[in-house]
Amino acid sequence: MRHYDVIIVGGGPGGSSVARHLDLSRLSDGALMIERLEEDSFLRYNQMCGEGISGRGLAEMGLERAALQRNAVTKAVEHWPGGITLSSNIDGSIIDRSKLVSTLREPFTSAGGEVVTGTVTGARRTDGGYVVDTLEGELSCRYLVGADGARSIVRRRLFGTEPSVSMRVVQYVIESPMENKLHFTFDQRYMGKYRWEFPSGQYTKVGFPEGTDEAPRNAVDTHRRLIPIGGLDRIVDGNACLVGDAACQVNPITFGGIRNSLVAGRMAAEAINHDNMLNYQSEWERSPLSDVTFWDAFSRLRGKTNEELSMMVEPLRYGPNLSAIMGGLMNSDDFRTFYRGFVRKMENGW
Ligand SMILES: Cc1cc2nc3c(=O)[nH]c(=O)nc-3n(C[C@H](O)[C@H](O)[C@H](O)COP(=O)(O)OP(=O)(O)OC[C@H]3O[C@@H](n4cnc5c(N)ncnc54)[C@H](O)[C@@H]3O)c2cc1C
Repeated sequence: MRHYDVIIVGGGPGGSSVARHLDLSRLSDGALMIERLEEDSFLRYNQMCGEGISGRGLAEMGLERAALQRNAVTKAVEHWPGGITLSSNIDGSIIDRSKLVSTLREPFTSAGGEVVTGTVTGARRTDGGYVVDTLEGELSCRYLVGADGARSIVRRRLFGTEPSVSMRVVQYVIESPMENKLHFTFDQRYMGKYRWEFPSGQYTKVGFPEGTDEAPRNAVDTHRRLIPIGGLDRIVDGNACLVGDAACQVNPITFGGIRNSLVAGRMAAEAINHDNMLNYQSEWERSPLSDVTFWDAFSRLRGKTNEELSMMVEPLRYGPNLSAIMGGLMNSDDFRTFYRGFVRKMENGW
């Protein structure tokens, strides 16, 4: 059985970030990343995403925006029941995720890290580490990283946990460009989630929780995927860990998961570099990206009627009006939680 120091299951943004930040010079038995999808399917899988990330998210990973960007986005427009529209200046990008992933992996493969196509079907603990079953045979490792997305086999086999909430979303690709704004529509039928409209080069991507809205007539492609939210109590177990969607690290109110998986991937790699996997758990818990305010805000939003939703955002109807905001903060617990989430998501929500 072939043995590695590190096996990373899944080659999306999370797994590729782990690969980028591993110090391969410390590893005598090397590192392997296993990705189940071959080139064309992998390309398509990565397009099943709004591909939005903040400028801050790219900068903190040292990624060059111009090399990855399809569109710059400068405004977020939120449409709430009661005719309330909240418009905020933002600084972010719609990126090409496939380019992101190959950029992340480049230093790993150049330093001798291996990337193979293969499907992991199981994982188990042994005395000295882990055995990973693949359709192609067994492999063993000292450190195991599950970066295998929403339906993570590593999570199910080694951690025995499931996401608190898994949203099934559908996204349509429409062949017409749109201005460089992100549009979000909130309504009781989305149950704490929203409908989005994002630019994507010559296309527009429109998505919503499956079963809530009609499909647009002019869609040229349809994507269906799960978004797991709510975090997990444990993302480290011995020398195994979970990263990104496998760890349910998507922001619960923006549903942005690219930046979170990149940052978590870096933290996990650094913990492996220092031979102390538990550092990853504590670093992630301290991170503003995992702030519980986001989950609290989602929990408040999900059961609200349209009338309650509009009452909640009412203090923001006429823009950042200080006295209305102060009144809202003093008088309404819902507004306080919503407002904290609203402010924090600007910096740490995507
Ligand atoms: C429709 C939609 C729109 C979204 N829009 C945005 C957005 O605009 N901005 C944002 O920040 N986030 C967005 N997200 C969330 C974002 O896509 C995810 O949070 C992000 O992809 C997480 O990266 P990851 O590497 O953890 O998981 P994934 O991207 O799911 O990567 C996991 C990888 O593991 C591989 N894999 C799975 N199982 C196995 C196995 N058994 N063996 C080997 N390989 C395996 C998969 O093929 C995949 O390549 C969106 C999600 C959806 C569904």
